[in-house]
Parts: sequence; C-alpha cells; structure tokens
Amino acid sequence: MHKDVKKILVSEEEIIQRCKELGEEIKKDYEKKNELPLVVGLLKGSVPFLAELVKHLDMDICYEFMDVSSYEGTESIGDVKVNLDLRSSVKGVPVLLVEDIIDTGRTVQEVKRLLKHKGASEVRVVSLLDKPDRRVVDIEADYVGFKVPNEFVIGFGLDYNQKYRNLPYVGVLKDECYQ
Ligand code: 5GP
Ligand code: MG
Repeated sequence: MHKDVKKILVSEEEIIQRCKELGEEIKKDYEKKNELPLVVGLLKGSVPFLAELVKHLDMDICYEFMDVSSYEGTESIGDVKVNLDLRSSVKGVPVLLVEDIIDTGRTVQEVKRLLKHKGASEVRVVSLLDKPDRRVVDIEADYVGFKVPNEFVIGFGLDYNQKYRNLPYVGVLKDECYQ
C-alpha cells in the first residue's frame, strides 16, 4: 500500500471482478436493443476504469475521450467548459459515458445535456464510483461499480492535485497529506 494511503476502500481484485460483471450486463443490454454504443471517457479520471471495463465489453465498440471542467468558484453551477471535444460525430449514436465518480452529479448532467445537444440518440452513464449522499441534481448512473461513503477518495484514476491516479485501488489519504 502507498505510504500516503490511510485505508483501501475498494481493492484491485474487487474492481476487476466488478468490471467483468458490468461488462457482461452492459453488453446484454445493448444486444437486446441491437445497438452498439460509442464509449466516451471523461479525462483524466475515467482512464483506468475505461481500460479495464472495455476488456470485458465483448462487442465491437470504439472509444473516444472528452475533457471537461466545471467553472469552479462561480455562480454558474452545473456549467462545464469543454477542454477537449470528441473527434467523431455522435449524431444518431448511442453513447455510453464513462466517469470515475458521480458526486454532486453536475458534471454528468451537463455532459449528458451536451451530448444530447450534439444529437446522440441516447446517453447512458457508467461510473466506477457513486457518492449518493452528495447529490445536488437529480441524476443517477445507469451502471455503478461501487457506492462509496462521503469521503474524498483517490486512486484508480482519481487524483489529489493530479497525484495518485495510478494507484491500482481506491482509497483514502492520511490526514497529514492535506496539510
Ligand atoms: P460532480 O460534478 O459529480 O460533483 O463531480 C464529479 C467530479 O468531481 C469527478 O469526476 C471527480 O473528478 C471529482 N470528484 C468528486 N468526488 C471526488 C473524490 O472523492 N475524489 C476525487 N479525487 N475526485 C472527486
Ligand atoms: Mg472527473
């Protein structure tokens, strides 16, 4: 375990197992509708999760990335700024949006709105983690890896000041790391 980590909330083994389950469930759902989603990952947090998940999505999918950031410190809550946009059109395309964590829900709400505005036929959301206690907008992921308590988590894509994204598990930092 990394020296800065106080405790592990979700182990690497649990994440891999859950990605297998999610992959099978998602594949079944799209096959039922006879659709193939474009998988869209939100940078940078979703990268390890997307990489693990697509191994278990046994369909001929393509994936793309978007980078968005919320306007912090402003009153325009919910608005997102697009730093990197998709390379391909989503007009008429079902999108599977991959996110690291849903906290207030604002990011996913705005990105869903944006993708629908660009003409996506449907936007489903799969998130590695969910913090339901923190939600301020009425949005739920269609698929969730794990629910986590209201604590700041790092690892498996999630950062603190851009660090710890490469940890193979999800955990909580020691208090002294925030000083
Ligand atoms: P939301 O718009 O749902 O409030 O925020 C989602 C984004 O906030 C996530 O994509 C993530 O970047 C960041 N975030 C929310 N909670 C946590 C957390 O516990 N740890 C880390 N590292 N990032 C978080
Ligand atoms: Mg994020």
